[in-house]
Amino acid sequence: MAAYFVIFLLVFFVVFLVPVALLLGTVLTGLIAICSIRHEPPPPHNPSDIYFPPKRKYKTWSARHSWPRASGLFYKCDICHKSLPSETTVARECGCGNLFVGPEHIGAQNSMEVQLYEE
Ligand SMILES: [Zn+2]
Repeated sequence: MAAYFVIFLLVFFVVFLVPVALLLGTVLTGLIAICSIRHEPPPPHNPSDIYFPPKRKYKTWSARHSWPRASGLFYKCDICHKSLPSETTVARECGCGNLFVGPEHIGAQNSMEVQLYEE
């Protein structure tokens, strides 16, 4: 008689309790995840963020060394926030006239206001 009871308990565990426990675990994990997402502080946002997209990798660069060129390299004017590709066939200027990128020459009136980034 006791053996039947043990078998009954085992079957009860496997058929009923284990799936219920798994289901409860899944639901609880989901709830915790949803709650943690909801309580996550909103990302800091200010107008300047639009000029710093996360894809950009800014380089520690100084105009004293050189003005490198590569297909993924861009120069950005910190005054008007316009970016120009470092490799170009046409000479272009940024909006405020500080940064100049041409096929033969790259320069800036104020190179301290120019940043180099990779994208
Ligand atoms: Zn500019």
